[in-house]
Amino acid sequence: MSRDYYEILGVPVEASAADIKKSYRKLAMKYHPDRNPGDTEAESMFKEAAEAYEVLSDVQKRRIYDTYGHEGLKSSGYSGPGTAEDIFSSINDLFGDLFGFGGRSRQRDPNAPVPGDDLRYDMEISFMDAVHGTAKEVEVTKRETCWTCEGSGARPGYKPQVCPSCRGRGQVIRSQGFFQVSSTCPQCHGAGRIITDPCSDCDGSGLVNKTKTVSIKIPAGVDTGARMRLRGEGEGGRRGGPSGDLYVVIHVQPHEFFQRDGQIIYLRYPVSMVKAALGCEVEVPTVHGKVMLKIPAGTQSGEHFTLRKEGVQSLRGTGKGDMVVEVQVQTPVKLTKHQKELLKEFDEHCEEEEGFLSRLFHGNFGQSSKKHQSGDAK
Ligand SMILES: [Zn+2]
Ligand SMILES: [Zn+2]
Repeated sequence: MSRDYYEILGVPVEASAADIKKSYRKLAMKYHPDRNPGDTEAESMFKEAAEAYEVLSDVQKRRIYDTYGHEGLKSSGYSGPGTAEDIFSSINDLFGDLFGFGGRSRQRDPNAPVPGDDLRYDMEISFMDAVHGTAKEVEVTKRETCWTCEGSGARPGYKPQVCPSCRGRGQVIRSQGFFQVSSTCPQCHGAGRIITDPCSDCDGSGLVNKTKTVSIKIPAGVDTGARMRLRGEGEGGRRGGPSGDLYVVIHVQPHEFFQRDGQIIYLRYPVSMVKAALGCEVEVPTVHGKVMLKIPAGTQSGEHFTLRKEGVQSLRGTGKGDMVVEVQVQTPVKLTKHQKELLKEFDEHCEEEEGFLSRLFHGNFGQSSKKHQSGDAK
């Protein structure tokens, strides 16, 4: 006597498709044979849940079951969820690979083309090359098809033989109670073929290391972390698979004077105390050349001046950023006797500091009005 499908999944008769799926996922996880090795009761629960789900998740089968029960399904030709392989593969289709054993139900064709791996190349470039763009050549060592054996791995004139253990499948299947467990063939390591006389150029791998010079155009405006993809310049594929890609990752070296934040260039520019006080015009280096900058009289240390469009070109071609010049007023050191006298004379001519200092010494800080009282009576 078969158990009721709703009871097996622990859902009410009016349960939605989503509820049924959710409940099945929970049971599939709980009774999955990878979690319960050798537990025959769990095995049968697992199979039961798969059958219940297969029926209740199918609108037509569910209708038949609701109306006529198990007998109705039988007479409609339904014969259960199939083999363990079928269950595993339907679980993987539904929920993805629950336990990381996707290989057992989805056997890969050992003779299928395999695409080559992507390669990463970290490239350091100068600050100015990043600003202006440049062309570079890099030497990349990668694995490519061995042309001696045309990628077969066998010595020319000797063909690879079909592996006798797995008959070319690359997987061997063992029966373990109800379940059939497939694993990588130990004789051919999943390749499905055995090379009796390996190609001497590639030692049977079908791939050889080759060093290739690749030209790379680096656009103006790149910054650290920029990735450039060179299609097909990665490792060679196997058995006719496409080559991978080469990713060039940019690292920009710092500059001695300029700093950069995206498209904006920053520069600290020293100006003498006297020139800052009197005002002056100075020549400022930019990443594009030189420009004249007017420093107004009375400029304080730390003041910023913006030079429009003297920054970095945008990668998207939307124009240049700005440059920000921060003035650093230099206090003179190593004064001569004469200079000291001049400065003292200058100081004597300075009016007494109003503003900050007088406020500092004579100001009302909100405490003077409160007299310190001792022994408050109340
Ligand atoms: Zn070869
Ligand atoms: Zn084999």
